[in-house]
Amino acid sequence: MIEVSKKCIGCNKCVPVCPFAAISMIDKKAVMNEACTLCGVCVQICPVQAITITREEASARDLSGHRGVWVYVELTETGEKTQVKKIKQVALELLGAGRRLADELGEDLCAVLLADKNHNYEKELGAYGADKVYMVEHDELFEYNTDIFSTVIVSLVTRHKPSIMLYGATIQGRDLAPRVASTLYVGLTADCTALAIKNGLLLQSRPAFGGNIMADILAPNSRPQMSTVRPNVMKMAEPVHGRSALVVRESAKLDPSLRRVKVLERMIAHDAGAVKIETAKVIVSGGRGMKTRERFRQLEELSKLLGGVVGASRAAVDLGFKDKTHQVGQSGTTVSPKLYLSFGISGAVQHIVGMKASDVIVAVNKDPNAPIFNVAKYGIVGDAHEIVPKLIEALKKGK
Ligand code: FAD
Ligand code: SF4
Ligand code: SF4
Repeated sequence: MIEVSKKCIGCNKCVPVCPFAAISMIDKKAVMNEACTLCGVCVQICPVQAITITREEASARDLSGHRGVWVYVELTETGEKTQVKKIKQVALELLGAGRRLADELGEDLCAVLLADKNHNYEKELGAYGADKVYMVEHDELFEYNTDIFSTVIVSLVTRHKPSIMLYGATIQGRDLAPRVASTLYVGLTADCTALAIKNGLLLQSRPAFGGNIMADILAPNSRPQMSTVRPNVMKMAEPVHGRSALVVRESAKLDPSLRRVKVLERMIAHDAGAVKIETAKVIVSGGRGMKTRERFRQLEELSKLLGGVVGASRAAVDLGFKDKTHQVGQSGTTVSPKLYLSFGISGAVQHIVGMKASDVIVAVNKDPNAPIFNVAKYGIVGDAHEIVPKLIEALKKGK
């Protein structure tokens, strides 16, 4: 139920922002009509907190009619209106996971794309498994903005009622998904590492208690059931070129007054290590077993010879061997290179969850019982301080 209290000063600010044209001004007071979906956008904009929404108990909600698996499609941010943005890989990974869920439920897989201009994105999204693309084109969508994007997503969800919605656990996804969840008053499971269907519900698995156990989470009273998944956790499906998705064009009523944050300047971080390890094909990673910063530096040389980048365990980061942006694992970056070389890393579960999707894992550890060997394709029981220089020498000779 939505109510406007006596505090209303008749400022009219709520009227243009309502995506459903549900507000009229009557006798200088805002009055909502039956088109209101309780999306909550007007509540955020009211300067005197005159609007309140009372929600019914989650268990009392009518969840019938929610159908479809949705994937939020994030585009690369350029900050330039004219530049063509690309679909981020995590969205394609989520389409692969979403396809399996949709097939099991017998529902459609839908991609949701918000942009100032469509650049035939539906071709790529269709090739990666989407049946439909909900496309919203609007000048105000030229760059990501929490208020603007969440307003559009909330109105789409309210209108079309998906049963599941997936977001990449990127900076943008981690900002957008909680905002949508709190506006719609539904749950959200962050950083899922596995998704499946159980009794018609989304089974969301994620590490809990410091990564020592896996928690399986169901949201029986939430629609859509919402999850974020980190990049590189789900494997991307093979694209089927020529398979295209049906485009559903949606209009958006976006008032510039919704935009409360304006980006004044963009700066590139000097050490963009995290970005590099996220997409690297070869990662040479070191842990506490490298013992000193000087010895750890040998991994830089090795990684350069292999055309890769350096990763680190949390212990190595804590010891100051490498910057946090290079940390692999639960509280670092999740990676899935073609080759992951690990030196002096024990293989704690928090490290493993961040690199186990790598194609080939080679581990060097002097302890034959180190858990890293459980996920390694090739294991060498030996001293990293002897093996690393030998590898460098061999690679140099081979060049
Ligand atoms: P250690 O566990 O101390 O292992 C060092 C290894 O080096 C040993 O196996 C030893 O046998 C081997 N070794 C020693 N000398 C040599 C040598 N000369 N040659 C070869 N091998 C040698 N960790 C992460 O990595 N990433 C994360 O994102 C992360 N997030 C966490 C989040 C939480 C909430 C918690 C509680 C922990 C997290 N951790 C994370 C920490 C994790 O639990 C481990 O403590 C950490 O991964 C250990 O790092 P390590 O393997 O380098 O060190
Ligand atoms: Fe409009 Fe949403 Fe406010 Fe309802 S809650 S009046 S739909 S903005
Ligand atoms: Fe009234 Fe608030 Fe709407 Fe202004 S924004 S008209 S104060 S309800």
